[in-house]
Amino acid sequence: MAQQVTEELRQKDAVAADLATGPESAPRRTADRAPPDAGLHRIVIVGGGAAGLELATKLGDTLGRRGEASVTLVERARSHLWKPLLHEVAAGSMDVDEHDLDYLAQAHWHHFRYRLGEMVGLDRGRKEVILAPTFDEEGREITPRRSFGYDTLVVAIGSVVNDFGTPGVQEHAIALDQTQQAARFNRRLVNACIRAHAQEGPVRPGQLDVAIIGAGATGTELAAELHRTTRAVVAYGLDRVDPEKDIHITLIEAADRILPGLPPRISGAAHGLLTNLGVQVRTGARVSAVQADGVRLADGGFIPSELVVWAAGVKGPDVLRDLDLELSRSNQLVVLPTLQTTRDPDVFAIGDCAWCPREGHPAPVPPRAQAAHQQASHMIRQIRRKLRGRPLEPFVYKDFGSLVSFGEYSAVGNLMASWRGRA
Ligand SMILES: Cc1cc2nc3c(=O)[nH]c(=O)nc-3n(C[C@H](O)[C@H](O)[C@H](O)COP(=O)(O)OP(=O)(O)OC[C@H]3O[C@@H](n4cnc5c(N)ncnc54)[C@H](O)[C@@H]3O)c2cc1C
Repeated sequence: MAQQVTEELRQKDAVAADLATGPESAPRRTADRAPPDAGLHRIVIVGGGAAGLELATKLGDTLGRRGEASVTLVERARSHLWKPLLHEVAAGSMDVDEHDLDYLAQAHWHHFRYRLGEMVGLDRGRKEVILAPTFDEEGREITPRRSFGYDTLVVAIGSVVNDFGTPGVQEHAIALDQTQQAARFNRRLVNACIRAHAQEGPVRPGQLDVAIIGAGATGTELAAELHRTTRAVVAYGLDRVDPEKDIHITLIEAADRILPGLPPRISGAAHGLLTNLGVQVRTGARVSAVQADGVRLADGGFIPSELVVWAAGVKGPDVLRDLDLELSRSNQLVVLPTLQTTRDPDVFAIGDCAWCPREGHPAPVPPRAQAAHQQASHMIRQIRRKLRGRPLEPFVYKDFGSLVSFGEYSAVGNLMASWRGRA
C-alpha cells in the first residue's frame, strides 16, 4: 500500500514538474533537463476535443498512470466545451463557465501532459510537432515557438465550417466552430435586441431577424433554441420589441429537406415542429452571397437579416495542407481502416479531421461526435497493440442513430434505429 502511494506521489510530482517544462525537443526549444519519463514511448495527441480529450484521458489513466508510455495533449485552447453544446451558447441558454473543463486540471488528474499551443506544422523526418508561440491579452509571449517529439502522433484537430467560397460569409456571417464564436453571436443578438428597444424609430425590416444557413443538426437545433431564448431576452423588460412581429428566424437549406443526412420521416417531423413554432423553413434554397443586411439566394431572392449564422458543411482545418500527408477533397487527412494516415504509419488521424473509409458505404465515416468517440475508443486499443508489436485492427463505425434536440420544446431522432433494423 505504502509503495502504491509513493508511486502515485512520484507520478503526480512528475506530471506537476512537467507542466512547467515538458519534453520539448531541439532545435526550436530544448528542455533544460531530461523529462522524468525519458525513454518511454511518446504518444502525442494534437487537439483535445470530443476525440482527442477522451483519448488522452483514457491513455493517461492506463499507460500514463502505469508509467508505460508518456502521453501529451497539445491543444490551442485552455478549456474544453463539448462542441455539440455550442448552439446553446450561441442562443444564450448555456453558461460556458459552468460547463467547460480545464485542460490543466484534467491532465493533472489523469496522468497526461497538457501543452498549450497551436500546431502549425510537422517535421515528419525528425518526428516533431511544431507549435506557434502563444501570447497573453497584452501581447506578451507566454510560450515560444517550440516543438514536441513523438513516437506515435494522433491528429484530432476537428473541422472548420466550409463556406464553399460564398462571398460575404467571412465578413457578415458567424460560424459556430469555437466557443468564442458562439459567445460572440450571442452578444450580437442580445445587443441587437437592446439597440432595437432603445432606438427612436420602429424596428427596421431584418434588424432583428436571424438567418441560419444549413439545416443539418446544428442549424436545426439552433433555430429552435433561438426561438425560445430571443423571447426570454425580450421578456426581461425590452417591452418595445414584439417577438412575434419583430423577430423572424429563417432556416435555409440547399437540399430539398432539412436534416438531409437523416431519414425523411425525421426531417418531416422536425420541419413540422419548426413551422409550428413560427420558424420559416426554406428548402431547395441555394445561398449565393451574404450581405450586411441579409442573404442573397441563387434564384435572385433576398432574405433580410442582420444576424446570419453559417452552419453549412465542414472541412479540415487549413494547417492540414502543410503536413505533407494525403488529403481528401474536403481537406481531411485520408486514413486507412487502421486510422493510420496513408503516407506515415506513425501518424494517425481521428474525429472530424480524418477521412476514414467505411466498408460497404460510398461516403466516409461522418463528422459526428459519436464517430469521434468510437474512433478514440478504437485508438486506445490500437496504441496498446502497437506498443506490444501486434498488428493493428480496422476501425468499424457503428451508427447508433441521431437525436436532434429542440431544447425545451421536444426532440426527434432515430436513436438505435439501425440496431433495431429500421432506418
Ligand atoms: C454547434 C454544433 C452542434 C453539433 N451537434 C452534434 C450532435 O448533436 N451530434 C453529433 O454527433 N455531432 C454534433 N456536432 C459535431 C461534433 O461536435 C463533432 O463531430 C465532434 O466535436 C468532432 O470531434 P473532434 O475531436 O474531431 O473535433 P473537436 O471536438 O472540434 O475538437 C478539436 C479540438 O482541436 C483543437 N484544435 C484545432 N486546431 C488545432 C491546432 N492546430 N493545434 C492544436 N489544437 C487544435 C480545438 O481547439 C478543439 O479543442 C456538432 C457540431 C457543432 C459545431
